[in-house]
Amino acid sequence: MNRDELFKRTRAILKPEIAQCEVWAFFGVGSGGARVAEEAARFGIGTIILIDRPDECLEEHNIIRHVLGYKDLGRPKGEALRDHILNSNPGCEIEVISMDVVKDRDRLASIIRRCTQVHCCVDNEPAKNVINEEAVAAGVTLVFAGVFDGGCGGEVGRVVDGGACYACMAAFLNRSGRFDESQAPQTFDYTNPDGIENSTAALNLDIAQIALIQARVGLLTMLGRHDSAPDFKGNYVLFGNRRVEGLFPRMLSSDIWEIPRDPCCLICGAGGMTEAQINAAAEDILAKAVCSGN
Ligand SMILES: [Zn+2]
Repeated sequence: MNRDELFKRTRAILKPEIAQCEVWAFFGVGSGGARVAEEAARFGIGTIILIDRPDECLEEHNIIRHVLGYKDLGRPKGEALRDHILNSNPGCEIEVISMDVVKDRDRLASIIRRCTQVHCCVDNEPAKNVINEEAVAAGVTLVFAGVFDGGCGGEVGRVVDGGACYACMAAFLNRSGRFDESQAPQTFDYTNPDGIENSTAALNLDIAQIALIQARVGLLTMLGRHDSAPDFKGNYVLFGNRRVEGLFPRMLSSDIWEIPRDPCCLICGAGGMTEAQINAAAEDILAKAVCSGN
């Protein structure tokens, strides 16, 4: 491999030296996550950590929407994806970890603390919540994404140190009324779209469209931190692949929101307070509760 030659056509836009120092973790290497990870390797990200659930192997019904193909049928997705990525950037350090992030919080925290950026590509809420909690605790940027029901569009959110976290954004979106019952854009399993009960039809390009926005948000965040390059204003991107009444006014519509931090958020709301201050505040609240109880 000749590194100079490999990055010859992209160097003028993205200096590989910037990306080389980065460590990005990908939680979930299904249709969406695999594509974002592959793109990250093409940015020249130095170290990529692929985390997937134990025994998560490539099945035939995955193939039509995954960067992996028949050659890897039956193989663990993380290992197969490592080989796939190394084929386009052999200089990338790739670690593959098989774990349940909800059950092994200590290991999850230690992985996130090593990272400059974390990508959440799972759709189940317990996993999203623990990844959010550990990223907020470590002050590491978290980029999450989801594809909406039927592949009609999707969302990409960015959680930065001191800003709204995933829990703040989820609460805001629930309150916003933008997603009412009739159009509720349920995200399906971005990791394994065929694997659980709320999975639904979506084309490969419906998923890829959102995954590439996720990769771009990661790229812009990295560049903004390194050389103050222009960044988009906001922390939540909506993209409509198709028209959805009340949500996406037209095909290929996009919207960027700045979702505010919830000062009462249980995950990030105590920002700036020390543990002692939090304990004192909690005691104060309890004392008042006892008094009013009398
Ligand atoms: Zn929060």
